[in-house]
Amino acid sequence: LRKLFISLLFVNVFFCPLPLKAMDRASADVRCKEIAAKLLKNGLTEEYAYTLLERLSRIGPRLTGSAQAAAAVDHTLKEMKDLGLENIHLESVQVGHWERGDVEKAMLILSAWESLPLTVAAIGGSIATPAEGITAGVVEVRSFEELHDLGDKARGKVVFFNRPMDPSTLNTFGAYGSAVDQRIQGASEAAKAGGVAALVRSITTRLDNNPHTGMMIYESGVHEVPAACLSTIGAETLSQYLKKNPDFKIRLELNCRQLPPVISHNVIGDIAGHENPDEIIVLGGHLDSWDLGTGAHDDGAGCVQSLEALRLLKKLRLKPKRTIRAVMFMDEEFGGTGGKAYASNAKFRKGETHIAAIESDRGGFLPLGFRIGRNESDLQSFRKWESLFQSIGLYWLRPGGGGVDIGPLGTQGTLLISYIPDAQRYFDVHHSALDTLESVNPRELEMGAVAMALLAYLLSEEF
Ligand SMILES: [Zn+2]
Repeated sequence: LRKLFISLLFVNVFFCPLPLKAMDRASADVRCKEIAAKLLKNGLTEEYAYTLLERLSRIGPRLTGSAQAAAAVDHTLKEMKDLGLENIHLESVQVGHWERGDVEKAMLILSAWESLPLTVAAIGGSIATPAEGITAGVVEVRSFEELHDLGDKARGKVVFFNRPMDPSTLNTFGAYGSAVDQRIQGASEAAKAGGVAALVRSITTRLDNNPHTGMMIYESGVHEVPAACLSTIGAETLSQYLKKNPDFKIRLELNCRQLPPVISHNVIGDIAGHENPDEIIVLGGHLDSWDLGTGAHDDGAGCVQSLEALRLLKKLRLKPKRTIRAVMFMDEEFGGTGGKAYASNAKFRKGETHIAAIESDRGGFLPLGFRIGRNESDLQSFRKWESLFQSIGLYWLRPGGGGVDIGPLGTQGTLLISYIPDAQRYFDVHHSALDTLESVNPRELEMGAVAMALLAYLLSEEF
């Protein structure tokens, strides 16, 4: 190869007006521009990502371990076959199975004859209350420190965590991250202080009556108490009443339950590489969702964008050098067992090298850019494509890629990339009944698929 290269260089020096490398670069750049333009044109004309999302949404919520999650696996297999993907298969993963139940009630007891309903939803993984419910006084806190400082005052009470998601932070994921400890650890912190249940203000900056659920973790060795999230209007209301009378009691009833684990699946389909089929570029999202809405943004969007990216590439009849693979991960929401199972599957990963993995799990909103690799030096070789991505509507490429599902591949040296859409509206709908198809814009969703298709192509051919 080295000899060939030297001889080509020699020929080039004598017969071509430009050095070979520069000529190749120039023609490759022209080709990349053409491909970017075609991907965008086809994507925006057909808006097929939204069609895929419409069909996925019909299944309903896809809570890990549920019958709908299993139906979504079957459905996705069929979609992959219809798209003409290769190497379509399932990879099994054992997942937890929690059920919400049909009783979720919270009442603020104002007097013997008057009570005020508050809108709540059980937090994912919570135990139920006793059948007669829990009736107890309430202590309101904004942090675990504040709870510790209460000493004995939380004993026998419902602990109400009411620290709002900070609206002044531009990075909504950052603001979410700064508030989510209340939902994840609130129950165990409440129990350690002698509390009998946890009520957590929903993590959103919107003031409305939709509770936003999510996962929680019981600390081992700590007594388990039930936990529910309260709508932001419910949280404001409760807080106002407690200011008037700190002795008001609340009644909480939940009948959620944990069932035995089940075997579920990641769903995989490829466009096989024709030069280096064992070198893989992964595009993925998670197929499971929360159960209050239909998980259209979280993460139906990421799933259908990955599928649509492969469809757009196939439509151009490109034969990629490396394998471009769509992976629909199972069980991101309860801790990412699907992502871990994919990375560590000895049978299926044998002989494969994962060059890069792109995760879309931040909603189907208007693209801003990609976060690529860990630092500026990982990003260096992508800088030359910044204007190409700007031509399809993105604003920037920055370091700091990753994600729950692709994270485990990172330890094997895979370049991790996150698709970053605008997230100012994401936490309005996130993990709530508002996360439905109607909240997704077809063009914005499609632009993400186009961007992922282009990046996958560049990673296959030019990286
Ligand atoms: Zn998600």
